[in-house]
Amino acid sequence: MPANNAHGSNRPILVIVAGPPAGGKGTISEHLVADIGLYQISTGDLLRDEIARGTEAGDKAMKLMRAGRLVPEGIVNSMVFSKLETAEVRRKGAILDGFPRTESQAAALADYCSNSNWWRVDAYIAIDVPEEVLLERAAGRRIDPVTKLVYHVKFNPPPADIAARLQIREDDQPHRQRRRIATYRENAAPIERVFSNRLVHIDGDQPMHGVYQQFVEKMLVACWGGDSGRKHSTIPAKWNEFLAEEKKKQNASKL
Ligand code: AMP
Repeated sequence: MPANNAHGSNRPILVIVAGPPAGGKGTISEHLVADIGLYQISTGDLLRDEIARGTEAGDKAMKLMRAGRLVPEGIVNSMVFSKLETAEVRRKGAILDGFPRTESQAAALADYCSNSNWWRVDAYIAIDVPEEVLLERAAGRRIDPVTKLVYHVKFNPPPADIAARLQIREDDQPHRQRRRIATYRENAAPIERVFSNRLVHIDGDQPMHGVYQQFVEKMLVACWGGDSGRKHSTIPAKWNEFLAEEKKKQNASKL
């Protein structure tokens, strides 16, 4: 359990994975959940869950989401901040997937962190992917309603026996996907300014394992490298080796 000390190395990790729709945010988050047990806070998933449960927030969000538009931040911010207040998320640390998506959400998050004894943004990692690749990824994306697993007809084909039950997300239709990409591009620079001292870009136009590797390297340096003093016991041994190498390089460049 991390100590209740905002400035100490024991505070929980908070990493933001940013990128355009179908840019790979969800996949990276799922890997981090499996590899180091971070808690994934995906605002898209939380909203889809509200819709499935028929809540008031879900009713408000449904039309906007189907049209590929952003949901009012009154709904989204409180969903995220209440998750960050839970004991489980404080214990595990969190990866924010799909939040913040506007400058005003970014400001609200920065404000929340500055008033919190627990949370500081360790890294804001933006995945860069060209538009034509995003359109192809969204067009082939299929969701399994039973397991919630995400497939792609070309890049990650589903097993034949579940093919019939797979669904296409309405907001993956090409004209909606274009609108979502445009919304992301409009908002990216103002958000990045808010987190400029924590910002890194990675190249997302390559197979997912390459994207994940870059992500992990940047995240390790941001969260455990340098002078963070954070304990290494929570990360896989192979990643510890990478950090040890980084430290050697840093020390060599100081000589
Ligand atoms: P995602 O699953 O991240 O692609 O999100 C699906 C949809 O949920 C988005 O196109 C928006 O309509 C809505 N949404 C998700 N996150 C946010 C957010 N941070 N602010 C506003 N709307 C959001």
